[in-house]
Parts: sequence; structure tokens; C-alpha cells
Amino acid sequence: MESILLLAHTESDGSLARPALEALAAAASLGGELHIGLVGAQVQAAADRVAGAGAERILAVTGEAFAQPRYATDAAAAEALCRASGAAMVIAPTTSRWSRALPGVAFRVGGRVDTHATSLAIHNSVPAVTRWFYRQRMEAVLTRSQRPWIVLLDAGCVPAWSGASGHASIESVDVAAGETRTTVTGTRSPDAGQQTIRPDAKLLFVAGAGWTKKQGDGATHTAEAEKLILDFLRASQASLGGSKSLVDLSGEGEAVLRFMTHMNQIGQTGATPRHDKGLSTCCHGEEPHAVGWRFIGERRAINLDANCGWARGKADVVYVADAFEVMRQVNALLAG
Ligand SMILES: Cc1cc2nc3c(=O)[nH]c(=O)nc-3n(C[C@H](O)[C@H](O)[C@H](O)COP(=O)(O)OP(=O)(O)OC[C@H]3O[C@@H](n4cnc5c(N)ncnc54)[C@H](O)[C@@H]3O)c2cc1C
Repeated sequence: MESILLLAHTESDGSLARPALEALAAAASLGGELHIGLVGAQVQAAADRVAGAGAERILAVTGEAFAQPRYATDAAAAEALCRASGAAMVIAPTTSRWSRALPGVAFRVGGRVDTHATSLAIHNSVPAVTRWFYRQRMEAVLTRSQRPWIVLLDAGCVPAWSGASGHASIESVDVAAGETRTTVTGTRSPDAGQQTIRPDAKLLFVAGAGWTKKQGDGATHTAEAEKLILDFLRASQASLGGSKSLVDLSGEGEAVLRFMTHMNQIGQTGATPRHDKGLSTCCHGEEPHAVGWRFIGERRAINLDANCGWARGKADVVYVADAFEVMRQVNALLAG
């Protein structure tokens, strides 16, 4: 097996986030000579965390300039680590930092890059990468002859590496920080009122446009819909998804679910999150939406319409019921 470099950047507290440990587990499972390349202001704590991973070398680019996510410094650090390691395979977690910087690094080092990999394995004695195409409709297994081959592994696809920590010795790689025009002054997130997207949650709760439609009494009940959904999210700590119809309504500034933004959209033109279970409410389950449920383990839906898309083979269980009624009862049970 060829040599492998695992690339990871530290978080603001100097630790390694779970996606980095997942990528480490994938890298270690291939069985080649393993190098770990770390980037951050200081990386000793991160290096100690992975001391038991059996890496031949732990290389690092450190300094204040490398604390902030920024293309110029991230790409310079990753390029230097790739060159210092000389590894044929470079594996990194799909973080916004690496997604932005590593395609450019692949060009600089004369290699190739594949993004959104979901697994890595040895096929016919060579490394092979699995990824989905056409919005999760087709799965392919790829091999490449070009090296270095940089692979970004999506989060939540393999169990995180959980080996022993210890004291690691680090080889420092010098990189001139160079002139940068970008300074990160803070983070601005969508005005969603509160954090509702929770990638680590066991349950995905999806709200569809039905929550805002006229109900049996001929009136809309959006205020109650908001309360029912938020109460459920608070009690269950589920992650909140939405259908495109619903988030488009919110985007138009209509008086509907104020905490819902395009960030919540699940589907072909939205997200494809990974959760053990999913509960769809007041959502029709059309194919462009349901394709975003590809990686949801068990799917349930509540819809008044016994002929909705979910009932046609897209959900494991469909409750033909009024979601207002059901969620009132569920919240009462959770509160009790
Ligand atoms: C190119 C393209 C890309 C698209 N990408 C996406 C995407 O990424 N994500 C996405 O979601 N959609 C996407 N769509 C749109 C998609 O096809 C649907 O139009 C959309 O998902 C419908 O949203 P909905 O089910 O919430 O609304 P509706 O179709 O209006 O369905 C509302 C549902 O609520 C039910 N309902 C109403 N009241 C209640 C109640 N009290 N209790 C229970 N059920 C109730 C109704 O029976 C109905 O089934 C895309 C479409 C195209 C053409």
C-alpha cells in the first residue's frame, strides 16, 4: 500500500473535531505508511490526541497566521505538508476550510482531488474511493492513477478514530505566511433566531409547507405550528430540516416559521444530512425532496394524504394523520 498523509486543521481551542478523527480512521484503515499533517496556531494538543494512531511522522505548520480559515494560508500550509510528506494519498475531512483550499493544492502539487468521498478501501490492491453522483442518485467506486491523490471524506460516514492519546513529537514544517489581504473579523450566521441544524442529532425532523396551509377549519395556524415545532426541537434536540416550498416561503418574508432558512432545506437543491432516523411532517415527499433523505436510516412521515409521496415506498412508516394533532400529543408525552 502507498504512503498516506492525513491532513487536519485544529479548531479554535486547539483540538481536533470529529470529522478529522473520522478521516484519520479511514486513512489508518488503508494500511499504508501513515503521516499526519496538522495546521493551526498550536498543534501539540492535537498531535498528542492522535499519538496512538501509529503515524510514522507527525508534521505541522503552526503560527497565528494559520489559526484563521483563509485560502492563502490554508493552501500554503497544505501544499508544504504534502511536499514534506511526499505521500501518494492525501486524506482530509470535508470541512469548509479544506473544501476551499485543497482543490487548489492538488493543482499546485500536480495531483488530483476528489471531494465528498463517503468511504475509502483497497480494491484489487489499489486505493478506491466511493462517492455519490447526481445528487445522491448513483454511487460510484473510483480509482485514479495520478498521484498525489487528495480525497476529502464527508463527515458522518465512518466511526471516528478513538485510539489512545499520548505524547507526540512533531516535525515542524516552515511556511512563510506571506502577504494576505483577508482578515477574519468574526462570523455572521443566518438570522435563524436559534441553532436548529444539529448534524450530530439522532433524529432529523422535517417541516413541510403543509404547516402553513389552510387547515380543516379553513384558517392557517402558523403561530401554533411554530410553537409545536420549536417545543419538539427543544425537548428532542432533533435537527430541523425543511422542504423547498417551506423555506422559499420564509425567504419571501411571509409570516411563516421564522426560524426556517435555506440552510434547513433538504433535497436535490438542499442538504443530504446523515441521521439515524427522520420524521417528515406536512411534507408531500416528492422525489426532489426525498432524494435528500438518502442517508437517513429509518424514515417516518405524517401526512393527511394517504396517497402522498412517502406512502409510495419512500418511508418505512406513514402515519395518515393531522400533524398538528400528532405533535401536540408527542410534545405532551415528552413534557410528561
Ligand atoms: C429542480 C428542482 C429541485 C428541487 N429541489 C428541492 C429540494 O432540494 N428540496 C425540496 O424539498 N424540494 C425541492 N423541489 C421541490 C419539490 O418538488 C416539491 O415542490 C417540494 O418538496 C414540496 O414541498 P412540500 O411537500 O413541503 O409542500 P406541498 O407539496 O405543498 O405539500 C404539503 C403537504 O402537507 C400536507 N399537509 C397539510 N396539512 C397537514 C396536516 N395538518 N397534517 C399532515 N399533513 C398535512 C399535505 O397533505 C401535503 O402533502 C425541487 C423541485 C425542482 C423542480
